[in-house]
Amino acid sequence: MHNIKDKQLIKHFSYINGSWHSSETNIDVLNPATGELVASVSNAGVVETEMAVKAAKKALKAWSNKPANERAKLMRTWFDLMMANQDDLGRILTLEQGKPLAEAKGEIAYGAAFIEWFAEEGKRVYGDTIPAPANDKRIIVIKQPIGVVAAITPWNFPNAMIARKAAAALAAGCTFVVRPATQTPLSALAMAELAERAGIPAGVFNVVVGSDAKAMGKVLTEHPDVAKFTFTGSTAVGKALISQCASTVKKVSMELGGNAPFIVFDDADIDAAVRGALASKYRNAGQTCVCTNRIFVQQGVLTEFTEKFVKAVQTLSVGNGLSAGVTIGPMISVEAVTEVANLVEKSVQAGAKVVLGGQQGCDSTSANQNFYQPTVLTSVTNDMPIAQNEIFGPVSPIIAFEEEAQAISMANDTEFGLAAYFYARDIGRIWRVAEGLEYGMVGINEGIISNAAAPFGGVKQSGNGREGSKYGLDDYLEIKYLCMGGLDK
Ligand code: ADP
Repeated sequence: MHNIKDKQLIKHFSYINGSWHSSETNIDVLNPATGELVASVSNAGVVETEMAVKAAKKALKAWSNKPANERAKLMRTWFDLMMANQDDLGRILTLEQGKPLAEAKGEIAYGAAFIEWFAEEGKRVYGDTIPAPANDKRIIVIKQPIGVVAAITPWNFPNAMIARKAAAALAAGCTFVVRPATQTPLSALAMAELAERAGIPAGVFNVVVGSDAKAMGKVLTEHPDVAKFTFTGSTAVGKALISQCASTVKKVSMELGGNAPFIVFDDADIDAAVRGALASKYRNAGQTCVCTNRIFVQQGVLTEFTEKFVKAVQTLSVGNGLSAGVTIGPMISVEAVTEVANLVEKSVQAGAKVVLGGQQGCDSTSANQNFYQPTVLTSVTNDMPIAQNEIFGPVSPIIAFEEEAQAISMANDTEFGLAAYFYARDIGRIWRVAEGLEYGMVGINEGIISNAAAPFGGVKQSGNGREGSKYGLDDYLEIKYLCMGGLDK
């Protein structure tokens, strides 16, 4: 199939307790670029989800008792295998998700980097000693793995959204159960195959694929043996899952929606801003939670930026992600395209102008309606639907502004607070704006900010917890305070 060298990487069953489980019905995984069947995968449900939690619970003791350097060796082998199979894993990812192959291979390297990074960081789970208020006592703090971790992940990064969570969890000494999105289970199952080849013990990393998200989600959020729940997806679903976790007071971390502002000030390097905006907006056809959602441009550079940006967007090439030279693949589904088209239409009715794109479909390679042309809108205001909603598609709304304070205020005028970007050279302005933006991550003269060493996460209704960096490990650890008394003679 499509030049996959190692056919054993295409798996059709859930991976539970170190073995592959078939179910009675199947889920068809379709290529969003062509509509063709990529593979059928067994449709697991509540029973299999419970089995996976049980397996993770059983494996917990041995895994958490392993010295961190032994866990690190196994994780390092997992990382090596992912990189050795980067081409196959990238192709599988493009087939089920649609993003261009170069981007898909980039995602494999990005996801694997978290495994490599956390394997090392797991050796540095340091405790503390704290001066005690009395001479006969000592205060010691140790950190321990929280226990079984359950995760639900989305389709936009079928590998990396799992790797980011599993890497930190496994390094901390936790065991892991993930339910990947049903549109993109093959990348998750390929990771399980490589985890097995790496020697990660049965029950430590489990993948349960099933279409009944609600019922499986209920098990993962309410099961008393799950200590921590982690989710990446929409804010609406995240809120429901947080409340489900309340019944057992689980620790939660949430990576939810965004509405990223991208601000270009008069003193910016405009060519650099154009490159940054292009990268942060059109990656994955605009389907990431840190994608630029609103471009604010100061009046003095509005014409120059808009002209150069439109020219740059015209160079993007839409098509099947496996074709050479394609930089924008299909969106995940025709429903997703329709939602984007509706946002554009409503905003045009409210006064926005389409200066580029604005059409559904892919001209050259396919009549498939899963495509949407890279689009630029001008004369947009911050109250239009395109600025108030997470677009999750390849559309750039450009909003003009006069003053620095006005840009910060408009940028913050949203319930979301994930990523923000701005371009400026004045050092005073850089500090004022960086500190004024109510976001978990700020790219300053930079459009691509995520990596394993940095803390990824949001504020406000974009979620809580961090993925990546030393802070990311804390989400999978409990702090235990030991008070040693009776030390006086
Ligand atoms: P997206 O727009 O990325 O699909 P969702 O929040 O709808 O965002 O989905 C993210 C993940 O959550 C997917 O794996 C999806 O199947 C799952 N999901 C959706 N609704 C629920 C639910 N009610 N309970 C548990 N999981 C859900």
